[in-house]
Amino acid sequence: MTEWNTLRRPISALIFAFFFLCFVSAAIAAPVTELWTEYRVISGDTLDSIARSHSILEKNLRFANALPKEAALRTDSILLIPRTDGDACAALTEVLARKHGGSRPEVREAVAPSPRKDRRKPDATTVRLMTWPVKGTVSSPYGVRRGGRSRRGHYHDGIDIPAPKGTAIAAALDGRVLSVKSQRGYGKTVTIDHGNGLATRYSHCLGFAVKAGVHVRRGQKIATVGRTGRATCNHVHFSVLRRGKAVNPAPYLHSTQF
Ligand SMILES: [Zn+2]
Repeated sequence: MTEWNTLRRPISALIFAFFFLCFVSAAIAAPVTELWTEYRVISGDTLDSIARSHSILEKNLRFANALPKEAALRTDSILLIPRTDGDACAALTEVLARKHGGSRPEVREAVAPSPRKDRRKPDATTVRLMTWPVKGTVSSPYGVRRGGRSRRGHYHDGIDIPAPKGTAIAAALDGRVLSVKSQRGYGKTVTIDHGNGLATRYSHCLGFAVKAGVHVRRGQKIATVGRTGRATCNHVHFSVLRRGKAVNPAPYLHSTQF
């Protein structure tokens, strides 16, 4: 008994240290915060009961899973549950990506890839220097998406970061606003020139906060998140252009957000 009492404290300390280390390593290994969780439908579930138990609105659960109004829930089918009502858009983007053969690993890789993986080396002076235009998770990476409408795949010239409507979009680097206008498909778009042939573009904006010709600082609000143009939900479509050609934005973005 006395032996146990003397041992209890070091054992508790060890257990605490173990869980603490698990937590820390998980936090380091997975910087991506999931904006949704998967849920397997069990018999007796209704959209309303699932929404209630996850503290989100039924309409957002329906929206996130692209479910028609009268759709019955199939037992054992997987629903994506947005973490909050504001994350419904990110879940929807994932649902649509899966329908078109998109995969989760692809999404994860786009969030924090190694700059070495990019075939065209980005300008060393700007690697990892860009501020994320909004805080969030990349729901659709840069590159060719397989499936979708065309058989050859669809080229996505930027990354999509879902965020609630009206969220401030920040300039990724200091620069001069080249243009503020509506572009076909891209909707309301801001383009910033950063010099040395480098530019960034922010699309599907709800509104603009700057005018063409003005100088902006990195992190300065330039527009707000919306879904103008061809967009299924509120997000920023962020492109990095080198000498007018879109390149993978990932190596340019700071590894942590803000
Ligand atoms: Zn996009």
